[in-house]
Amino acid sequence: MSDLPLHPETLAVHAGRADFGALGVHAAPIDLSTTNPLPDILHGGDSYESMATGGHPVPDGGNVYARLWNPTVARFEEALAELEHAEASVAFASGMAAMTAAILAHTQAVGKRHVVGVRPLYGGTDHLLDSALLGAEATFCDPEGVAAAIRSDTGVVVLETPANPTLDLVDIAAVVAQAGEVPVLVDNTFATPLLQNPLDLGAAMSLHSATKYIGGHGDVIAGVIACSEPIAEGLRRVRAITGALLHPLGAYLLHRGLATLPVRLAAQQAAAAALADRLAEHHGVAEVFYPGRRPGEQELLDRQMRGSGAMIALRLRGGYPAAEALTGAVRLFTHAVSLGGVDSLIQHPAALTHRPVAPEARPGADIVRLSIGLENVEDLYADLAQALRRADAVAVPAR
Ligand code: PLP
Repeated sequence: MSDLPLHPETLAVHAGRADFGALGVHAAPIDLSTTNPLPDILHGGDSYESMATGGHPVPDGGNVYARLWNPTVARFEEALAELEHAEASVAFASGMAAMTAAILAHTQAVGKRHVVGVRPLYGGTDHLLDSALLGAEATFCDPEGVAAAIRSDTGVVVLETPANPTLDLVDIAAVVAQAGEVPVLVDNTFATPLLQNPLDLGAAMSLHSATKYIGGHGDVIAGVIACSEPIAEGLRRVRAITGALLHPLGAYLLHRGLATLPVRLAAQQAAAAALADRLAEHHGVAEVFYPGRRPGEQELLDRQMRGSGAMIALRLRGGYPAAEALTGAVRLFTHAVSLGGVDSLIQHPAALTHRPVAPEARPGADIVRLSIGLENVEDLYADLAQALRRADAVAVPAR
């Protein structure tokens, strides 16, 4: 693109578009072909071989088959890699497909049998690791326990920061130091590439459920992992073999979503910060979880992130009955799982997103999670305040 280092806002708009002039287009072309005409058996076969083992199409070999390679997906991958300061990125049909590929590529595919999971993690990730469905045994630990949890057959360490749902911050560089030679995967979904770049802190992979902020409009299920080119080869190999490629229409929407990510996130974050402060004063709220609010957390936040993001969790004084009343009484917030879109959502992690997590690691029944959207912050506060009043009526003993 340009020889000058570009700011993330500029990259978000221009990355993955360098060839538009030569193509004579102003919006990304969408290639929906499932199969591609083969130039000849020899070159087509070479291209097939290259892609099935995680490489790129060979010159004059063509893309062969869309499960192996799709140009619209590759264009989004190029853009996301630039924003994550990575050599490459690999896109998948969902965040969980991306997580599955990362685990398979670093365990079964390389003869390792063990993974370390730093809790708390998104319930689906915790479930995937705990189930041993992928043939690898998991040890769960807290961020200080990573070195002790590592074994000679550990293939990957998985962590999330800020973590879902209680927004715990994990010191990425400290976990990388404990992990030694073992690659560290950071789930960067809550932070997005705008607020945090795990590869700059020594992580091997930065994973996104692109379903969330990157798509940003609640209409695409997708996952993506930013990493080095050698790691990307391993991930693409698993993706080709297991058939987890992102659909090109999804890739188009994600690429389009990237352009507005900086302004969406800035506005959502400003509203979330204001709401976190106001909700902390509300008598129905026992605790507000928002990056930087825990004692001593500001230093890590400043070192690792460029902002606190737009996710909040609340511990309600009235416990589960208050959570039930609150989620039922909101009008602007939608009572729904997922996050990161233009509209605000509220959900109860213990009953939903974190339901499969072992009871000792599951979030409390008194916690609700909010994803702050682009609505006016006064309207959002007014909605929460009226819903908290209803929750008070059912749950908080008279004072
Ligand atoms: N990681 C985090 C932090 C998530 O919140 C989610 C989904 O909620 C996932 C991964 C899984 O992503 P997907 O639903 O796109 O498979």
